[in-house]
Amino acid sequence: MTKQFDVAVIGAGAAGMMCAAVAGQRGKKVVLIDHASKLGEKIRISGGGRCNFTNLRAGPENYLSQNPHFCRSALSRYTSQDFIDLVKRYRIGFHEKHKGQLFCDDSAEQIIAMLKAECDSGGVEWRMPCKVAAIGRNGEAFRIETEAGEILANSVVIATGGLSIPKIGATDFAFRIARQFGLKVVEPRPALVPLTFDSAGWSSFLPLAGIALSVEIAAGEKKARGFFREDLLFTHRGLSGPAVLQISSFWREAAALSINLVPDVDVAESLVAGKNSIKKNLGNVLAQWLPARLAEGWLLANGFNADAKVAELPDKQLRKLGESLNRWTITPNGSEGYRKAEVTLGGVDTSELSQQSLMCTRIPGLHFIGEAVDVTGWLGGYNFQWAWASGVAAGRSI
Ligand SMILES: Cc1cc2nc3c(=O)[nH]c(=O)nc-3n(C[C@H](O)[C@H](O)[C@H](O)COP(=O)(O)OP(=O)(O)OC[C@H]3O[C@@H](n4cnc5c(N)ncnc54)[C@H](O)[C@@H]3O)c2cc1C
Repeated sequence: MTKQFDVAVIGAGAAGMMCAAVAGQRGKKVVLIDHASKLGEKIRISGGGRCNFTNLRAGPENYLSQNPHFCRSALSRYTSQDFIDLVKRYRIGFHEKHKGQLFCDDSAEQIIAMLKAECDSGGVEWRMPCKVAAIGRNGEAFRIETEAGEILANSVVIATGGLSIPKIGATDFAFRIARQFGLKVVEPRPALVPLTFDSAGWSSFLPLAGIALSVEIAAGEKKARGFFREDLLFTHRGLSGPAVLQISSFWREAAALSINLVPDVDVAESLVAGKNSIKKNLGNVLAQWLPARLAEGWLLANGFNADAKVAELPDKQLRKLGESLNRWTITPNGSEGYRKAEVTLGGVDTSELSQQSLMCTRIPGLHFIGEAVDVTGWLGGYNFQWAWASGVAAGRSI
């Protein structure tokens, strides 16, 4: 049996639930369709189960897109404070962890329950789990063929996210629909993802697996250059931790990462200038600035004897060692891919969409929101803030 709605939202994730709730609460007849059997899986696993649901300092400068200004309108009309107010209304406890990142005190489940309640108060109808076979036109409206029957809707909102973590239901649905309607898609690629190195080259770093330290990390050129001060983690396959996840969004194949392992000290200068007053051996001196296991492993990998007295080493060698720590350059051979990526870079080209409503300028009634759009946040609650803001922008305009 065919059912008629004002709005059909496809994808009941962060952006989709937000959009459906807002449109429903404005009196629109809304149906929310998702193929998953469990609601909000990505929210549930986010932030280590505590959902880093926004960032106090979220602004357009924290997002990557071919048009960096595109996100400005939605972000300014639904700010992190607006989402915090909603969270407070539901009496969900939260705290700031690091650099403006807000997490639930208890569980990400509370955010899912809140969004579900918001949808319920907007009278949203659910089709879940429910597969969508096709979307076509029906005059000015849209015809959506689902396994639960045909749906006619005046507006369709595609909120099916990106390609990250296929095992919990990510699909290329948004990009397929965009292409079907002749819209440009910025080539998607995994982002916020650990980077890998060829196994032969990485073998000397294997003993460092598990070590974490605060570093400065950079990659990319000119306007596309990223620079972060965050924690780096050595793993068996390569590099991870917030520093590498952040920089992975800026890194491109065959390019090197530039890493300062001792950001607060000019190691070459300190070793050479203090050489004659330093009585300790090299291993102990480096261990003032680095985790001891890293100091030891680094010296070994770079052909230094950890027991050598600093005072007895030539300046040239000390400078070389300092350079290697303050300006480590290393070239990844790839990333862990969508299996481990927190987000998808790229997506529906923003030049196809209105900044105010996220509606396709060439196809009235068709909207794309959330991660499906070529707007990708840094690590730290920015991606959810974009999901909320773009969901609200579409929900208010339909
Ligand atoms: C491990 C992990 C941790 C993360 N932690 C954080 C964090 O703490 N803070 C933060 O800001 N961001 C975090 N992110 C990113 C954040 O989860 C996403 O950016 C955000 O969920 C995107 O929202 P969305 O609504 O666009 O897509 P999603 O939340 O991915 O929702 C898409 C929905 O569409 C459904 N769907 C997909 N394909 C179809 C189809 N063909 N038919 C029907 N339904 C479909 C899916 O089942 C899903 O419910 C994390 C991501 C991961 C993977």
